[in-house]
Amino acid sequence: MPTNAHQAATSALDAVRRGEILAAVAALRDSFAAGTTRPIEARIAQLDALAAGLRAERPRLLKALEMDLGKSRTESLITELGVVAQEIAHVRKNLRGWLRPERFGPGLLLAPSSGQIRREPLGTTLIISPWNYPVNLALAPLIGAIAGGNTAILKPSEVAPATSAALTHLIRSHLDPAWVRVVEGAVEETTFLLEQRFDLIFYTGNGAVGRIVARAAAEHLTPTVLELGGKSPVFVDEGTDLAATARRIVWGKFTNAGQTCVAPDYLMATQATIDRLVPHLRQATIALYGRDPRRSRDYGRMVNQKHFDRVLALIDDDKAVLGGTTGADREARYLPPTIMTGVDWDDPVMGEEIFGPVLPLLEVSGPDEAIARINGDEKPLTAYAFSPRPEIEERFAEETSSGSLALGLTLAHLGSQTMPFGGVGESGTGAYHGRTSLQVFTHAKPVVKKPLRPDTLRLVTPPYRGAKRALLGRLLR
Ligand code: NAD
Repeated sequence: MPTNAHQAATSALDAVRRGEILAAVAALRDSFAAGTTRPIEARIAQLDALAAGLRAERPRLLKALEMDLGKSRTESLITELGVVAQEIAHVRKNLRGWLRPERFGPGLLLAPSSGQIRREPLGTTLIISPWNYPVNLALAPLIGAIAGGNTAILKPSEVAPATSAALTHLIRSHLDPAWVRVVEGAVEETTFLLEQRFDLIFYTGNGAVGRIVARAAAEHLTPTVLELGGKSPVFVDEGTDLAATARRIVWGKFTNAGQTCVAPDYLMATQATIDRLVPHLRQATIALYGRDPRRSRDYGRMVNQKHFDRVLALIDDDKAVLGGTTGADREARYLPPTIMTGVDWDDPVMGEEIFGPVLPLLEVSGPDEAIARINGDEKPLTAYAFSPRPEIEERFAEETSSGSLALGLTLAHLGSQTMPFGGVGESGTGAYHGRTSLQVFTHAKPVVKKPLRPDTLRLVTPPYRGAKRALLGRLLR
C-alpha cells in the first residue's frame, strides 16, 4: 500500500501546492466573513489601487503581451490596458449610485408595506481567464468582483505565461491580499481550485472547459458566468458602402491575429457582393498592415505553435485570394492575414471557431439564407450585419439570436462600458461590463418591511369564513 506521503507526491498536484491553494481560499473566506470588503470606501480604494497598479506596471504588461502574442504597444493600450482603465473609472464614478437601494412597492395584498432591493456581495469568487486578451479578460471581471464587495481568486491563463507572471506581480504588489489572490497554473491547479467551494465562478474561454467548470460548480450549487466563444457570422448586404465595410471587417478580423472571441469568423454575401468586396478587403488589409504584414509592427502572432498548426490546417491555398500558407512561419508563429473565397459550408474551416487570421467568404442568396444559416447553427457570441436597409437590420435583430448584434461595426462594442457583454446558449451565460458587472457579482436582495399594526395580514390567516372569505374571493378572482 502506498503511504499518504507517496500518494501526495504522485497526485496531479503536490501537497505543498494544494496547501497553498487551500490557504489562499481560506484567507479570502476569512476576510470576506470579517466584512473587510463591504464598505464602499474600501472597494473604491481597491479599484484605485488596481488603477495605480495598471499605470505602474504598464511597461511590464506591454512587454509581456508582446512576448506572448506579438501585440503592438498601441493595440495593447487600446484593447487591453485602456479598456480596463476606462472600466475602472466608469465603475468608480457610478458605484455609489448603483449600490443605492432601489425601492419597490410590494403590492396591494401586503399594504401597508415598503420594499427595497439591496445589492449584496456574494462572497469569495473565482475568476478563470483565457490567453487571448489576457490582461483585459482577467482584470475586467476582477473590477466587478471588487465593486461588488467580494474577495477573488484570479487564475490567469498558462497559455500566455509572460502575461500571467506580469498579472501576478501587479496583483501581489498593488492589491490587498485580503481581497485578491492569484493562483497561477494549468489544468491541475484549475481542477483543484474547482473542487473548492466558491460563491461565483466567472469563466472565460472555450465551451469544452466551460462544461467542466459548470459541472464542478454544480457540486456546490455555485452560480457561474460563462463567457464562451463560437463562430461569429458577418452578413454584407447588397448596396453597402464596401470600402468602409471592408475596413471595419478587416480590422475586427485581423486584430490580435484573429484570436478574438468576437472576431468576424466568416462572411456571407451574394456572389456579386463577394466579387466586389474582395478587392476592398485586400486593399483594407494592405492599408492596415502593409504589403508584407510580417514586417508590420501592428500585426500580431499566434499564441503558440499548437494554435499555429491548427489554423494553418484550415487554410486551403487554392481558395486563398489573400495570404495563404506560403509565407507562414511556424518558428515565428506568423500566419499572414488570409481571405478565402469559394468556401463550402462543410469545408474544415467551417467546422470550428477559426480563432486565427483566416476569413472565409461564403456565398448566400441574400438575407433570407444568411438568417437561416445563423439560425441553423449554435447561437453566436456576436452576429454582424452591414446593410444600407433598416428593414434588413431589423430582421437580423428580430429573427436571429446571439450574445449581441452589431450593425455596421465589428469588435469596437467590446470597449463600451454601458453595453452588457456576454453570450447566449453555446456562446455563454451571463454578461458583464460596467453596471452589468456589478449585477452579476452581487445578489439583488429584496428587503420587505411591514408594520405590525394595522394587522392587515389577519385577512389572509385562517379561519376563512363569512366576509373574509367573500373578500378574499373577490380579491383573488
Ligand atoms: P485557455 O486555454 O487559456 O483556457 C481558459 C482557462 O481555462 C485557462 O485559465 C485554463 O487554465 C483553463 N483550463 C484549460 N483547460 C482546463 C481544464 N481541463 N480544466 C479546468 N480548467 C482548464 O483559453 P481558450 O479556452 O483557448 O480561449 C479561447 C476560447 O475562449 C475561444 O473559444 C474564445 O472564443 C473564447 N473567448 C471568449 C471570450 C468572451 O468574452 N466570451 C473572450 C475570450 C475568449
